[in-house]
This record gives sequence, C-alpha cells and structure tokens, in this order.
Amino acid sequence: MKEIRHFINGEYVASSTGRVFNDVNPANGEVIARVHEGGQAEIDQAVAAARAAMAGEWGKMPVARRTELLHKVADGINARFDEFLEAECLDTGKPKSLASHIDIPRGAANFKVFADLVKNVPTESFHMDTPDGAGALNYAVRKPRGVIGVISPWNLPLLLMTWKVGPALACGNAVVVKPSEETPHTAALLGEVMNEAGIPKGVYNVVHGFGPDSAGEFLTRHPGVDGITFTGETRTGTAIMKAAAEGIRNVSFELGGKNAAIVFEDADLDKAVEGTMRSAFANCGQVCLGTERVYVHRSLFDEFVARLKAGAEELRMGWWEDAGNNFGPLISEEHRAKVLSYYERAVADGATVVTGGGVPDMPAELGRGAWVQPTIWTGLSEDSAVIREEIFGPCCHIAPFDTEEEAVRLANDTPYGLACAIWTENLTRAHRVAPQIDVGLCWVNSWFLRDLRTPFGGSKQSGIGREGGVHGLEFYAELSNVCIKL
Ligand code: NAD
Repeated sequence: MKEIRHFINGEYVASSTGRVFNDVNPANGEVIARVHEGGQAEIDQAVAAARAAMAGEWGKMPVARRTELLHKVADGINARFDEFLEAECLDTGKPKSLASHIDIPRGAANFKVFADLVKNVPTESFHMDTPDGAGALNYAVRKPRGVIGVISPWNLPLLLMTWKVGPALACGNAVVVKPSEETPHTAALLGEVMNEAGIPKGVYNVVHGFGPDSAGEFLTRHPGVDGITFTGETRTGTAIMKAAAEGIRNVSFELGGKNAAIVFEDADLDKAVEGTMRSAFANCGQVCLGTERVYVHRSLFDEFVARLKAGAEELRMGWWEDAGNNFGPLISEEHRAKVLSYYERAVADGATVVTGGGVPDMPAELGRGAWVQPTIWTGLSEDSAVIREEIFGPCCHIAPFDTEEEAVRLANDTPYGLACAIWTENLTRAHRVAPQIDVGLCWVNSWFLRDLRTPFGGSKQSGIGREGGVHGLEFYAELSNVCIKL
C-alpha cells in the first residue's frame, strides 16, 4: 500500500505518532494510500523549517532568481502532467476530461502568473511639502508577511492550493500547507517538484491531517505562523478566525456560496442552458462558484427547465480515465449522505423532482462509489433549507420570476455573496443589473471565465479579502512606508 508522508524541510517524513488514515478513491470506495496524520510535533517542525528558510537563503534571494525558480516549478508540474492528473483523479474520482483541462494546467499556471506579476508590480510614491520648503519623499516597499499557513479544500485540490502557494512564494514568504484530508496526493507530489526546481528547503512544507484537534487546528494556532489563508466552508472559517485572533494574525478567506443564476427574457437560451449545465453540474456540483439557485423569466421557464433536464440526463458518469465521461462521484460517502439529505428534504418540502433525486445504478466495479444523480427541482418556497443552505452537490432549483427588480431581490436574498451568472443579450440591462448583485464575482453570459489578474473572492459570508492579480498582495505582503525628509 502506498504511503503519503509529510514534506518538511525538503524531505518526506513519517508521523512521530505513527498515526495514519486512509485515502479513498470515491469512485469505487477503494483505499489507495495510507496518509500520515500530523500532530503538534509535525506542525512545530514545519513552522520551524519555514522560519529558518525565511531567515536564510530564501529570505535574501533576489526577486529575479525567486521568480525564475517559480517558473521551474510550473514547468516541473507540466513535465509530470500525467502523474499529477492520475493523482488528482484517483483522490477525487473526477473525470480526466475536467482535470486535464482545469485542475492540472491551472495548478501549474498559478506559479507563472504570480511570479510575473511580482516582477512588474509598482509601489506608490508621494512627494510632500514641508514648512521649511525642502519637502519630503515617501515611498512604499513590499515585504513578505513571513510564514503563511495554507489550508485548502478537496474540490479542486491542486488548483486551489497553488492559487495560494503561488502568490505566497512569489512574494517571498514560506508556507506550511495543510491539504484536505480527502485529497493529500498532489500537495505531496508537489514537494518532489519543489526539490527538482531548486526551491530551498523549508520554503514549501506539507503536513497532512484533519481540522479540529489535528494538523489544521495546530497550524492555525501556531504562534510562528504570520498569516492564514483558507478556502473551505464558512463554518470552518469562523473557527480559524478565532484561532487567528490570538496574536492578531491576518486572514484571507474564500468560503462557501449559494450562488444564483438569472436568465432574463432577452437571454440567448442556448448560451444560458449550456452555461447553467456547467455551473450546476461541473465537478459533480462541487465548485464554490456553482449555481444552486436558478431564476428564469416566466416566459422562458418551461423551455429552460425542459432543456436543462435533457442536458442533465445526457451527462456521462464513469471511471475517470474514460475520455467520454464528464461526470464523477461526490468526494466521499460522508458528503454523499449530506447531499442526499437535501435530496430528501426537497421532496419533504414539496419540490417537484424534474430529474434525478437519488443514487444511480452503477456497474459493479463502481457500486461502492459515492455517486449521486444530477438533480433539478422546481416548486420550492424560498425559505426551504434547500434554497437557503449550500449543498455542494450536482443540483439546482429553478424558479420563475416576472420583473427585473424581483430577480435582483431573489438573487441577493442569501447570507452568502460569492458569485452570480446573468444571462441577457441586452447590454444596458447587463450593466444595470450586475453591480446590483451583492457578490464578489458576477458573470454576464458566461461562468467561471477567469482572467487571473482580476480580483477573486466573496462578499458577505463568502469570504474576506481578494485573491488574484495585485489584490492578493494585500495579504501576502506587508507594505512599509519610507518617509525621507529632504
Ligand atoms: P472544509 O471547511 O470542511 O475543509 C477545508 C479545509 O479546512 C480542510 O483542509 C480541513 O481539514 C480544514 N479544517 C477543517 N476544520 C478546521 C479547523 N477547525 N481548523 C483548521 N483547519 C480546519 O471545506 P471542504 O469541505 O474541504 O470544502 C468545501 C467548501 O469549500 C464549500 O463550502 C465550498 O463552497 C468552499 N469553497 C470555497 C471556495 C471559494 O473560493 N470561495 C473554493 C472552493 C471551495
């Protein structure tokens, strides 16, 4: 059986306690590796290694050299593309049609994009008048924050982890990563690439384990960690924020969502159906930006529902390596129980099940996997838990609306504020409506179309801070102002 160890100070190390947990392929329930569970001792070692890296060669390395090494990391991932692809697909069950297109290439790109950005980003400078007439000159310098704790989820494991590690290292920090216990593989493999690229020891560390009373919590409580960046559930964010309060450590949070799509009467229905197929069902609905509430103008409602139903019923489930498959399992049996509880709740609350609503019949070899049917409901009232709470599964509720004001009010009626997709061919309406939606990311006639230079993050309970482009620098670097009296 394969073992996945921690990566600390450039070496793979076992847990001092000898504790291990299973890494399970959710497509068939098979145990694919035993993962070492880190405790306080491993977090202490990893933080010490990261602090030593900051005090040593890494902390003094010129930006040009640092960014050159990060390009080598990206090249190193691409050179071992198939290994990363297999590791990610076995951990998550996701089809290779998705992971080869999004997870792995974007995981590599995150190192290049932020390396190039840091090389070119300016800082501000102000000349000020002084009473003696000589004046003073102010300029800001960016310094790394220090040791960053990175806590990442399982839905896009490599992509979301490197989306933090890329800018953190580009800004000159060292990191201790706690990947999701469900998906430890690619974070571990990245250690080999870091060594091959020549990243100094201790700059990139990985400690495996769980959240509460395990590696995750010990990392967030460690006084040697200068900032914590986290992607995951809003509830977990609350716990991490409390831990970060001790020592006044900064946080950057990408949290949950309950995202709406609005299909106006002037939408191009082909585009709206194609986009909503992706936003509701891609990655088996396990995308933070995914659509779980669809509001469709009454004039298009019946046709939209029928076409989304037809699309959902054409999705192809199966083993990740089959290029024709585009629909994988949920991440775990536990998550499936949660998603199915909402499927039951929808029926109890009076929903019409347009399609799905249960567990598909899978061939024997996949019978023990965490499969669920893509599901569409209509007819729920807006106060149902199915409409209020994030399910994080391949499902959406479709409701009709009559006026633009009503659509905006419905979309905003949620404690979350991550993303929204608006479908309209009316340019004036698009510009009028988009700024009225209380979200960090609003797409018009698209979904998950990402220019990595643009701000990414959520408002309300969907996050704190923005990643992407120069915006992440507010977290990954400290600005220090130098004022020179002339
Ligand atoms: P999760 O919150 O359960 O776990 C995320 C990570 O936090 C894991 O590594 C976990 O071990 C760790 N963790 C859990 N409790 C902790 C604690 N008390 N202290 C420290 N670490 C702890 O989330 P998940 O189930 O892995 O991911 C799904 C969630 O992530 C969904 O809510 C989804 O919306 C959200 N998400 C948000 C974004 C975004 O960009 N806004 C992106 C992807 C996923």
